[in-house]
Amino acid sequence: MARALIIGCGAVATVAIKKCCTCSEVFSEICIASRHRENCEKLAQELRPNTKTVITTAAVDADKAENVVKLIKEYKPDLVMNIALPYQDLAIMDACLECGVNYMDTANYEPENIDDPEWRKVYDKRCKEQGFSAYFDYSWQWAYKEKFEKAGLTALLGSGFDPGVSQAYCAYALKHQFDTIEEIDILDCNGGDHGYKFATNFNPEINLREVSAPGSYWDTDENGKGHWVEIPAMSIKRVYNFDQVGQKDMYLLHHEEIESLAQNIPGVKRIRFFMTFGQSYLDHMRCLEDVGMLSTQPIKFQGQDIVPIQFLKALLPDPASLGPRTVGKTNIGCIFKGKKDGKDKTYYLYNVCDHQECYKELGSQAIAYTTGVPAMCGAMMVLTGKWNKPGVHTVEEFDPDPFMEALTKYGLPWQENFNPVLVD
Ligand code: NDP
Repeated sequence: MARALIIGCGAVATVAIKKCCTCSEVFSEICIASRHRENCEKLAQELRPNTKTVITTAAVDADKAENVVKLIKEYKPDLVMNIALPYQDLAIMDACLECGVNYMDTANYEPENIDDPEWRKVYDKRCKEQGFSAYFDYSWQWAYKEKFEKAGLTALLGSGFDPGVSQAYCAYALKHQFDTIEEIDILDCNGGDHGYKFATNFNPEINLREVSAPGSYWDTDENGKGHWVEIPAMSIKRVYNFDQVGQKDMYLLHHEEIESLAQNIPGVKRIRFFMTFGQSYLDHMRCLEDVGMLSTQPIKFQGQDIVPIQFLKALLPDPASLGPRTVGKTNIGCIFKGKKDGKDKTYYLYNVCDHQECYKELGSQAIAYTTGVPAMCGAMMVLTGKWNKPGVHTVEEFDPDPFMEALTKYGLPWQENFNPVLVD
């Protein structure tokens, strides 16, 4: 019996909220809040007749901690589930600390305005010291570790699929399959087709920023020292034959969980992340980038300030509307190379999810589903005390077993292959 404040009511949050309502014994009360309360209320009205979970709604602009503090003080939740955008992470963490409430999210912090000089100074230093230039990294949220520890509060970062389940798979492989893991390849394949020439499967601004950034991976030199290797965006391509999806082109991207896994998987030498893209997506993205449409810098247009990427977002299909038209499957998982009982071993742990099955069950496509279900399961781990560890933690730092059990129960069972084709 617990009370969760859920900030965000978009594609991912909708799935998480619907799943919370199927588990009223844990989520006995939820409050759905975002800037546009009417969206939260519409969802609440749809769900109320069929759930025991008591649902209330609120308007909140979570860009400012004081707004979140006010709402937390009124609602008194046991956990704040941040399923808004990564821009709000720090404000919501500040509010949780001030009010003494546990925190979770699905994506690590990045600033909305990457031209902010204060942020830029820290970013430039990090690029030089760490060697990767993606706009997102864990340093901002890891800086809260001590404060959360001292307050006796748990902050769970990145409880989606990747980040999230990908790290639980790593913890599971280390616990049950390996003595040491040397190499990890995280493969994210979306074999879905929505019929549009160009659309993004989750928030376009966040998605396009991630994909247009230089790629990078973790590697280890001959002296055993780990370091980042950065490459131009989309410059490493591989072709892989995915179970139940087929052959797809995939590209090496920077991804946030590489950063935490490099710290938390002892002895790991190389970690890479690949995501599949069709040619049409890449052609459109390159063209939009070339003409400046991915820029976050406001421009004056007919007397008004317009942020090009936000204008583009308004033109693109709403990711939440892709559900009815998306067919095909996702296949997301990790291939491991390492040692067990002194012998070399390879192992592939993955989930296959069908877009139309997700739509039939919850009215969402599989990208929102595969993120929203782990968000709900992560929240459940914190609320039931299974993942209760004061501080700021990523998913691989917790026992994967109860989380993986919950994933299976709520729609994301895993599959394993003991002789996978490796990525060269
Ligand atoms: P959407 O754009 O569909 O939804 C975002 C939601 O956040 C909206 O309901 C919006 O409502 C709310 N919001 C935005 N700004 C504010 C604010 N200032 N205050 C309060 N609420 C706000 O995004 P998605 O559902 O696609 O993505 C949600 C999160 O999931 C993102 O952080 C994304 O990066 C992450 N994600 C993680 C994945 C993973 O595997 N780990 C995969 C995919 C996504 P309103 O406008 O009413 O405020």
